Amino acid sequence: MNGHDALPSNLFYQTRQRRPLVAEARDIYIHDVNGKRYIDATSGAMVSNIGHGNERVLAAMRAQMEKATFAYRLHFENEPAEELARLTAAKMPEGLDRVFFVSGGSEAVESAAKLARQWAVATGQPERWKIISRYPSYHGSTLGALALTGMDLMSRPFEPMLRAMPKIAAPTCYLDRDNHSLEERGLRYAEMLREEIERQGAETVLAFIMEPVGGASTGALVAPDGYYARVAEICREHGILLILDEVMTGAGRTGRFLAAEHWGLAPDIVVLSKGFGAGYVPLGAMVAHRRLVEPVLAAGGFVHGFTYAGNPLACAAGLAVLGEIDRLDLCDNARAMGEALMAGLSGLKERYPFVGDVRGKGLLTAFELVADRGTMAPLPKAMDAHVHLVEEAYSRGLILYSRRTRGGLEGDHFMVCPPLIVSREQIAEIMGLLVESLDAFADRFGLPRARD
Ligand code: PLP
Repeated sequence: MNGHDALPSNLFYQTRQRRPLVAEARDIYIHDVNGKRYIDATSGAMVSNIGHGNERVLAAMRAQMEKATFAYRLHFENEPAEELARLTAAKMPEGLDRVFFVSGGSEAVESAAKLARQWAVATGQPERWKIISRYPSYHGSTLGALALTGMDLMSRPFEPMLRAMPKIAAPTCYLDRDNHSLEERGLRYAEMLREEIERQGAETVLAFIMEPVGGASTGALVAPDGYYARVAEICREHGILLILDEVMTGAGRTGRFLAAEHWGLAPDIVVLSKGFGAGYVPLGAMVAHRRLVEPVLAAGGFVHGFTYAGNPLACAAGLAVLGEIDRLDLCDNARAMGEALMAGLSGLKERYPFVGDVRGKGLLTAFELVADRGTMAPLPKAMDAHVHLVEEAYSRGLILYSRRTRGGLEGDHFMVCPPLIVSREQIAEIMGLLVESLDAFADRFGLPRARD
């Protein structure tokens, strides 16, 4: 505690934890009011993809502010929203050309669930309402998105208020101890979708939603390649919609604009947020295939909406963000720097026997700590490694993002997801501070490590 964070506050969020006041944010660095510098190695919550203080985005926002910050969409159309919808649609797989703007990821997921449901009703399939999702997973914290989220700690208090949705296991192939190859395990996880559809009754299932590369709930979990084609095929065979939650993976984070492109997936709906507004404005989008939207509009309209949706200021910022992603080739940089970062993180396994797994795609990467790499048994829960390592790093000016791994109940993983503008030198700077933090953490808890 120093100064401000000892003072009383009327604000509250999850816990009583206090943090210093922010002074300024530029590039991949954030400075607090005490003059300390932090490397934003997680882009906040995997949000600030184009870095902080981008002058072109700020200029576009200033220019729009001089014209109009808000014009309600039922009263006026606005050019930035039209143009952002056009450019967003151009980046989507074939047919996904209807865009619905929102102000965040949870709103985007809610919108996808409701559009899917209205499509089923409008096309004479009113018995379809169940959306299968994975466990663990994260799709947001509003009650509808929470019903799809597979994370006990977050949903438990609200269970009586939620309409429970079916879950299948996330493809955590790296934890399985059997004689099968990773590909074989991946296909086994995909078959769980078919089994769940049959258990529920295929005619009652509306959609399957997944994060193509896991976010905070699994720590950048990537399935074996064959998994993706197989789940898509299973959805198609049963007339079930495939919704990709690209809130974290989208806007270039994994090295392509959509993670779906790595596997040639053709989803029915994609949801975007985080890197789409890149921390400049609250912005998200639900992008749907025209095949879904047209029957809903013809049947009387989409009975859903949010006041701030598609406001000109947010869309002008979003347009400038998309422009920067293209101008700076940030998908390419995410691929190249992602490889450098993964190489650095993988090297940690030699120094620290308690680093159990390193995974990810592009600049969506994470490492997981374990008590035993052979069994992948987690570190003792009471050790609270996910808290202590983050604090070691924070005190050294390195921002990490951690969660408990196994459904939020035990296990510890750490996301390392710097802005997509990160350079090779900055990756080396991140790795240097990470090693210092891990050394201090290992020494504090008496964990084994190789010495210099
Ligand atoms: N979906 C995914 C994959 C996410 O990672 C998140 C947020 O972390 C959300 C949805 C919810 O987004 P928001 O917090 O903007 O509502």
